[in-house]
Amino acid sequence: MTGPEIHDDMAAAAVSAGTDGFPILPTDVAAELAALAELSAEEGPWASGGMALLARAGVFGRFIPTDCSGSAADEPTLIATLEAIAATCLTTALAVSQWAAAVRIIATADAAVRESLLPALARGETFTTVGISQLTTSRQHLGRPALVANRKGDDWQLDGLCPWVTGADACDTIVTGAATSDGGQLFFVVPTTATGIEMDPPLEMLALSGSRTAVVRFAAVAPAHVIEPPERNAARTGGLSTTALALGSSRAAIGVVRSEATRRELLDPIATGLERELAGLQGRLARAARDGIEPDDRDTLRGDANDLVLRAAQAALTASKGAGFVKGHPTERLVRESLFFLVWSCPQSVTTARLCELAGVS
Ligand SMILES: Cc1cc2nc3c(=O)[nH]c(=O)nc-3n(C[C@H](O)[C@H](O)[C@H](O)COP(=O)(O)OP(=O)(O)OC[C@H]3O[C@@H](n4cnc5c(N)ncnc54)[C@H](O)[C@@H]3O)c2cc1C
Repeated sequence: MTGPEIHDDMAAAAVSAGTDGFPILPTDVAAELAALAELSAEEGPWASGGMALLARAGVFGRFIPTDCSGSAADEPTLIATLEAIAATCLTTALAVSQWAAAVRIIATADAAVRESLLPALARGETFTTVGISQLTTSRQHLGRPALVANRKGDDWQLDGLCPWVTGADACDTIVTGAATSDGGQLFFVVPTTATGIEMDPPLEMLALSGSRTAVVRFAAVAPAHVIEPPERNAARTGGLSTTALALGSSRAAIGVVRSEATRRELLDPIATGLERELAGLQGRLARAARDGIEPDDRDTLRGDANDLVLRAAQAALTASKGAGFVKGHPTERLVRESLFFLVWSCPQSVTTARLCELAGVS
């Protein structure tokens, strides 16, 4: 199988995902995004035009309230949208998921902040991203907050770092979270051009280097806006978006097995088994998006999605044989990308269960 054939499969898979007939990712948009996937994986979806394409197609507007130039789609539609983008290009999906996480926080701000930021984000005139892992999964063992917010008269000042910021050098603002001296946490919107911000070069990673993820350092930075979290410790790991990306990536890998199965009958039951498992997880994810889900069940769902994405990628490689092992073949990229889910915003219970499984201990 050649690269372009696989891209076509990925685009077709993305188009077929819809809820209630809603065009989750219109055919032409999915095809264009698939055609940009290689460039997005290398240079990032901002430079490749992938993000602008989604903004033009109205995809960004779905995540934004109607009073701020958005179309405010329901949660199942948003989750299906992320899954469909991930089935086409995981680098773009990561960028969109971090954009969407930032937008969700901005949408809880007061009217003036919302109106000053959200309409331009909906239209793709500006881009934002999120740097909040220091509140949840990253640097927790160090015993002191990675980023602190101190009062300076009536204003705030940020010092420290965000260890992970996707698209840091491609975005206009970063939505971050910092610890305050009273033991609380606040969110802040910081322009990437603010005095005192320094960005390391984007990390060279096992996969997804096109996400331009970087360490961002803060030295006496004055944020543009402060946003009170709706509840204490509002930042959390393993949200449904992360599961959506894992299922989208699984879908791309299973598409490879299905495509190989058209030429090798032996692979048919393998593709069918994986497709059945994927459909079950998609159903659980859609129900969770519609009805809500308890934290423990949400983590279990993420763990099951992680399990599938790793197996599906290896099934795709096994089915692609040596050709899939050669650098540049879409399957080797899918295999590398599947490992991302072991480390990205992974709840501790999922990490622990995986490690026990790998070690054969209970
Ligand atoms: C490609 C990519 C993009 C990402 N993009 C974003 C983003 O845009 N925004 C965002 O907010 N987050 C992002 N994240 C962060 C992600 O959500 C997780 O927070 C992150 O992967 C956690 O890994 P860490 O190395 O920071 O963990 P840490 O817990 O900080 O571990 C780092 C190292 O510390 C050591 N260590 C860990 N625990 C202990 C301990 N208990 N005792 C002693 N030593 C210990 C280990 O050697 C470990 O390797 C991204 C992650 C990836 C991989």
